[in-house]
Amino acid sequence: MTLTLKSLGGAGTVTGSRHLLELNGQRLLIDCGLFQGYKALRERNWANFPIDPKSIDAIVLTHAHIDHSGYLPKLVREGYRGPVYCSRATRDLTEILLRDSAFISERDAERANRLRYTRHNPAKPLYTTADAAAAIEQLTPIEFHQDIHLAIGAKIHLRRAGHILGASTIEVSWGGKTVVFSGDLGRYGDPFMFDPEPVARADYVVIESTYGDRTHPKLDPMGQLGEVIGRTVRRGGTVIIPAFAVGRTQLILYHIWMLKKAGRLQNVAIYLDSPMAINATELLCDHLDDHRFSAQVCEETCAIASYARDVDASKAITSDVMPKVVIAASGMITGGRVLHHVQAFGGDRKNTILFAGYQAAGTRGDKILKGASKIKMFGHDVRIGAEVASLPALSAHADADELMTWLKGFQDRPTKAFIVHGEPEASQALNTRLHQDLKWQSEVVAIDKTYQLGGSH
Ligand SMILES: [Zn+2]
Repeated sequence: MTLTLKSLGGAGTVTGSRHLLELNGQRLLIDCGLFQGYKALRERNWANFPIDPKSIDAIVLTHAHIDHSGYLPKLVREGYRGPVYCSRATRDLTEILLRDSAFISERDAERANRLRYTRHNPAKPLYTTADAAAAIEQLTPIEFHQDIHLAIGAKIHLRRAGHILGASTIEVSWGGKTVVFSGDLGRYGDPFMFDPEPVARADYVVIESTYGDRTHPKLDPMGQLGEVIGRTVRRGGTVIIPAFAVGRTQLILYHIWMLKKAGRLQNVAIYLDSPMAINATELLCDHLDDHRFSAQVCEETCAIASYARDVDASKAITSDVMPKVVIAASGMITGGRVLHHVQAFGGDRKNTILFAGYQAAGTRGDKILKGASKIKMFGHDVRIGAEVASLPALSAHADADELMTWLKGFQDRPTKAFIVHGEPEASQALNTRLHQDLKWQSEVVAIDKTYQLGGSH
């Protein structure tokens, strides 16, 4: 039988990553993410999983971000009982993120019922904290740079992808073929994360294309961050930075720490408003081998902000009229405490909403970045009058040139590259570059379509 590849998500879009390899009726799933953004996509989270979860033999995660891990609790509730392999740091981060995702889902359902802004009666969470706890039990940490032999006969091997703590590329050798999944690739020369590691050979490469049609400006992110904060503070405003508590938040804090050290940012209060922040901080110090910060930089960077641990502290920030910087989750304003800050500060032109990460199409973040004058939150419209800025140089994602750098690391030309994890224009742009610059066979993956990987064995 032939090895096949089928993307059940994370194709034609950047969210909902789930790539299925199948051989002789055995199934290996790479990533198990939630869909975010457009309603039609989010509705897929609520629909039945396209295959019986019990029929999956093993799962491997590239990294912890919710659009790669966030469907796990639902899959487990629907009967998946197998292992979920991932790096140690990914295991620890996924635990934090899944607990938070379940908590937000439960709280949003509760709020929708209480305030009656739901069509569903009653609104239910996508999954519960108990479902998340069960999924976390199934996380199985494995080491980087070691061959791991699975019961189904596949061999997997993790290498560093940069991007975020614990992120990995996954090499799968199965049925005589080798398939390499890029996961989300990070930047080269990032002050926080290591460079993506090259892979020498593969028969097939499944490559992300988030920024397949764009390059990040080669501007100094620290200087730009200082400028945005400086001009907002001078007009008496507040800077709201939507960011995942784990990931770019640490890099933003690092740049703010450097700005303060250089005397370029004085007397501005910095708040990290996320219940995950303390855990994330400890994780950085627990995983010193997984990033470039020394223990001391780690500590000083994390000490630059005041942490809002509970809801009262978060509300105190919302009612504080002094100029300040507030970093709050989630990164695409799809949920979390940042909603309250955008509601409180987003209408006033003296304030700034500053984006540091990718905004998936259809998310509130994407709408604001494209100039929407109002967005829907908590069942009603919220006016956006604040300055809107973005710092793509702070992105955790490789740009088009960096994706090509990683692809050029393959010494023999693979049989074919499959392009996933991008909006259609971005995926198509990378496809064109692969043809033209590298003369590779490549194809943009269509969701739910089965691809045959080579001949029979
Ligand atoms: Zn990611």
